[in-house]
Amino acid sequence: MLPFYCGWINEDLRIFSQSVNKFIDQEVEPCYGEWERNKWVPRKLWNKLGKAGLLCVDIPEEYGGAGVGFKFVALIVDIFSRRGVGAISVGAMGVHGSIVAHYIVNMGTGDQKKNYLPKMALGEYVGAIAMTEPGAGSDLKNIKTSAKKTDGGYLINGSKIFISNGQHCDIVIVACKTDPAAGARGISLFIVEATAKGFVRGAKLEKLGLHCQDTSELFFEDVFVADDALLGPLDGGFIAMMQELPRERLVLAVGAQAACEGMLEITLDYVRERNAFGQRIADFQNTRFKLADLATRVRVQKAFVDQCILLQAEGRLDTATASMAKLHTTELQGIVADECLQLFGGYGYMTEYRIAREYADARAQRIYGGTSEIMKEIISRELIK
Ligand SMILES: Cc1cc2nc3c(=O)[nH]c(=O)nc-3n(C[C@H](O)[C@H](O)[C@H](O)COP(=O)(O)OP(=O)(O)OC[C@H]3O[C@@H](n4cnc5c(N)ncnc54)[C@H](O)[C@@H]3O)c2cc1C
Repeated sequence: MLPFYCGWINEDLRIFSQSVNKFIDQEVEPCYGEWERNKWVPRKLWNKLGKAGLLCVDIPEEYGGAGVGFKFVALIVDIFSRRGVGAISVGAMGVHGSIVAHYIVNMGTGDQKKNYLPKMALGEYVGAIAMTEPGAGSDLKNIKTSAKKTDGGYLINGSKIFISNGQHCDIVIVACKTDPAAGARGISLFIVEATAKGFVRGAKLEKLGLHCQDTSELFFEDVFVADDALLGPLDGGFIAMMQELPRERLVLAVGAQAACEGMLEITLDYVRERNAFGQRIADFQNTRFKLADLATRVRVQKAFVDQCILLQAEGRLDTATASMAKLHTTELQGIVADECLQLFGGYGYMTEYRIAREYADARAQRIYGGTSEIMKEIISRELIK
């Protein structure tokens, strides 16, 4: 299954898509329902994803990646989301492969790259990023977790919440205040290993959707990290996070676009099969107009997402454009999920039906990676500056 029209898919990507689909056929789809019920994926899935080369495909080959471009990441995320198993790609190709690995590629020292990236590419190490705190989400500059200088390193204290991969992670990039009086200019990033004394995993949080994606609280109680755990420049963490966000937001947008297309496909199948009042649900004018409207909006949006993928592949995607992509696609994903679910009637509300899961999973997309309101702030700032 490939995107219905896609200008950037070449022969290499087409061949690669077959192995991604095969992986989902063999390793994901047969177990996905069980993982959703258990609210957990087995750790060995990470190793399988790594072995199949799906985790950190666009990092340099010397660090275990395939050294290919962003289009390959986009294709993997697209296929997982299109096939209704996007909760896997949120944590694995999103947070782990597109965020944590790229922070290390772009800002890490030679040793940090050598120590972490090959293991991350193989799924031996799972990465997480911990920015959000109970008292600060959108307003990141107000985080309270501190890293205080001590002999040979730093002592980290504080807590984080809503952290994807929080239960499985082996390393966490933690945003800390290193100069509490300096606001955004006093934030630094540290790589904390999960074996560090004082690092405590809190509860695995119960969510509305994305059940098999683990999301957790994390606590840091006098966690000592050596000087070489600093990732990027001291007090330069906020700028680093802002620089990396466009990529993260585009990955979410690609997933949202593909989820919309996937939902339309399964809804079309359903309304062709189901009858009421002696005709197919597909034959009611309401159904046809709803689907025509949604399909048009999704197809038009696809052109913009494709353009953003090409810009990212060329290293030219700017913050406001990425925010537009995230805002538009995730809002439309919510609308498509709602309208499609309605066409399933009561079955749409039953969790054994994929559309119910899609509806619940879609909701988080407008919140994480920056809420829709924050996207509007960023876009308007760029417009009005
Ligand atoms: C499933 C899931 C996974 C997540 N994974 C991670 C992760 O891996 N790492 C991580 O660090 N975080 C993660 N998050 C956290 C996520 O990024 C935050 O929840 C998000 O940034 C919003 O922060 P908040 O929850 O504190 O809401 P708040 O910032 O308290 O916002 C509450 C409401 O106020 C609005 N608001 C806030 N500021 C403004 C403003 N200036 N103008 C207008 N409206 C505003 C918001 O849009 C929102 O509607 C995850 C969240 C979820 C749900």
